[in-house]
Amino acid sequence: MSGWLAIAGLGPGDEALVTPEASAALDAATDVIGYGPYVARVAPRAGLRFHASDNRVELERAAHALSLAAEGRRVVVVSSGDPGVFAMAAAVFEAWEQGPADWRELDIRVLPGITAMLAASARAGAPLGHDFCAINLSDNLKPWALIERRLRLAAEADFAMAFYNPRSKARPEGFARVLEILREACGPERPILFARAVSTPEEVLTFVPLAEARAEMADMRTMVIVGSSRTRLVARDRGPVLYTPRWAE
Ligand code: SAH
Repeated sequence: MSGWLAIAGLGPGDEALVTPEASAALDAATDVIGYGPYVARVAPRAGLRFHASDNRVELERAAHALSLAAEGRRVVVVSSGDPGVFAMAAAVFEAWEQGPADWRELDIRVLPGITAMLAASARAGAPLGHDFCAINLSDNLKPWALIERRLRLAAEADFAMAFYNPRSKARPEGFARVLEILREACGPERPILFARAVSTPEEVLTFVPLAEARAEMADMRTMVIVGSSRTRLVARDRGPVLYTPRWAE
């Protein structure tokens, strides 16, 4: 039997947000590969091998997955959210392009998932209802100066902004700097949402004006969304609604 490789997104956490397509690939797989906590979301069964690895070895993990598929195994590489958003799909194609010629015609499919930005946005209302951009705030794979430059230009272009990887123990000061830049560029009244552990039992949504935002409000399980100049934060008893109208002038 010939092998294949699927790169699947498991969504933000809730089982109900895993697509039937990703579930079907996992049901047909012989091997599951990924960062430990994501692999742990896949139910064990007879005949399914697990290969959990550390978060920082993406290219090695990708090459391992490709070599297993080339040996004839049915391999699913798992990411959280969507595998094409700051996750494994691009790493697999990078390893694939650099790899041996016999990998070129492998059956490789990317199975989309619900990315954290969309899950958080849906919980809050519709903050990404007009033009927006997504920025990864981790400087593991790019220089910090590039993050600051993109941030300023996105604010100038009046995009709503969705931030992944806002803050980690290894980079405690970066996100405080991001908040300073945003306050300067967008003003103190602009609404910001901290959406933590969306779709899990630990989910917490916090809406504040930029003036009240503190770096400690975010961690690595938090999605941060900043509105555009049009974004509305409307109070109601069951929690506020954050939305960006469909129009602009
Ligand atoms: N591929 C993933 C993103 C990986 S980067 C996706 O499409 O969602 C990891 C970052 O995603 C985290 O630091 C956090 O900012 C965000 N994230 C992932 N799951 C989340 C969740 N359930 N709630 C809030 N943010 C989440």
